[in-house]
Amino acid sequence: MAVAERTTLDKLNELFSYLRPRVEFYGKRLPAQPLTSLDQLAEVPFTVKDDFRDNYPAGLLAVPNQELVRLHMSSGTTGKPVVTGYTRGDLEIWAECMERVLRMGDVTADDVVQNAYGYGLFTGGLGFHLGAERIGCTVVPTSSGVTARQVMLLQDLGATVLACTPSYALVLAEALAAEKVRQPLKLRVGFFGAEPWTEGMRRQIESGLGLEAFDIFGLTELGGPGVAVECHEHEGLHVFEDHFLAESVDPETGRPSRPGEEGELVLTSLTRRASPIVRYRTRDLVMLIDEPCACGSPFRRISKLRGRTDDMLIVRGVNVFPSMVEEILLAIPGLTGNYQLVVDRSEKRHDTMQVLVESEPGANREHLALAAQERIKEMIGLTAEVTVLSKGVLPRSEGKAKRVVDRRETTG
Ligand code: ADP
Ligand code: ZN
Repeated sequence: MAVAERTTLDKLNELFSYLRPRVEFYGKRLPAQPLTSLDQLAEVPFTVKDDFRDNYPAGLLAVPNQELVRLHMSSGTTGKPVVTGYTRGDLEIWAECMERVLRMGDVTADDVVQNAYGYGLFTGGLGFHLGAERIGCTVVPTSSGVTARQVMLLQDLGATVLACTPSYALVLAEALAAEKVRQPLKLRVGFFGAEPWTEGMRRQIESGLGLEAFDIFGLTELGGPGVAVECHEHEGLHVFEDHFLAESVDPETGRPSRPGEEGELVLTSLTRRASPIVRYRTRDLVMLIDEPCACGSPFRRISKLRGRTDDMLIVRGVNVFPSMVEEILLAIPGLTGNYQLVVDRSEKRHDTMQVLVESEPGANREHLALAAQERIKEMIGLTAEVTVLSKGVLPRSEGKAKRVVDRRETTG
């Protein structure tokens, strides 16, 4: 059974009347009258990233300081960071959602969770921490980085659950494989998110670490991880629709996507109180899946995320998502998930894309490069120069991997 529309509509109207007097930004733009059907939501203005910047740091907060118990922020690589606040109640909701995330992998109080998401302003570390503690797991809060110690603790403390970014999971798998004397791991499940990753990457992580890998999605603007997660079926991520309302819109026009069409994910937080957000344009590309899932969850799903609209590269008129290249590379035995795309502009103002990728030891690198080049041409329609490197040459990430180096901006 799907989540009842009526309940969602009531929650939305309640949210609007809560926000109107409390946040000037929303007071000016939310409809004065309650919505009478969910279809009317399409007429409510979007919230975009710049709205956070324009109202930095506290303009979008809906509660006074006494009620605010926590602030988190996005990394804010460009401009001011996005600030999100939590009341005590918001933290409880977050913990509940993160508990549900972990329960998708049947995590219980018997489990040991090694949490290698960054602790601090980033929502990942403390979000997982809250959920795992709520269940009563033994939490090992390693935070990200210091790989040698992570590897030692995975073996010595016998973590059964791992939480980190998928690119860091690969780093850990690699470091474990390089251990001379290795104790058997107890890992059973892992929760990986905060960046796009493909099915090919899933295979690498699962075989490298000996666990079942779950995709988890969230973003600072909506309070962090715990917006959506996979179930054992691994056929899309269930959105926790009792707390978050998901829509998909055409990124060009902002109109609702047609059923089965990929669009930009738009999210509304229904129950948060310190930093509620209405119709946030995530820039993340997904497909909403209405069909019920074999697991029986009442929550609709979104497809595994392909990337953000702003991750899309346009090279000589061809649209390229890094995840498309990743899928191709990882389908070629001998290549690894360590790759980088370097886009440049030649003197003749001709755009080029170079694919740097590492191979497993002992592979025939020229042969692999040729195979990758052909597949990229065939699948994406772009002639790319592929360079296969030996293992360990490309930079490793502890958090979100940087897959693209675009030199066109600097070379003009
Ligand atoms: P920052 O803005 O500093 O990168 P956030 O953690 O708020 O920090 O980033 C959220 C974004 O990360 C999402 O909008 C999405 O683009 C990406 N993301 C998070 N989880 C996933 C996931 N499971 N798959 C793909 N992308 C994800
Ligand atoms: Zn399911």
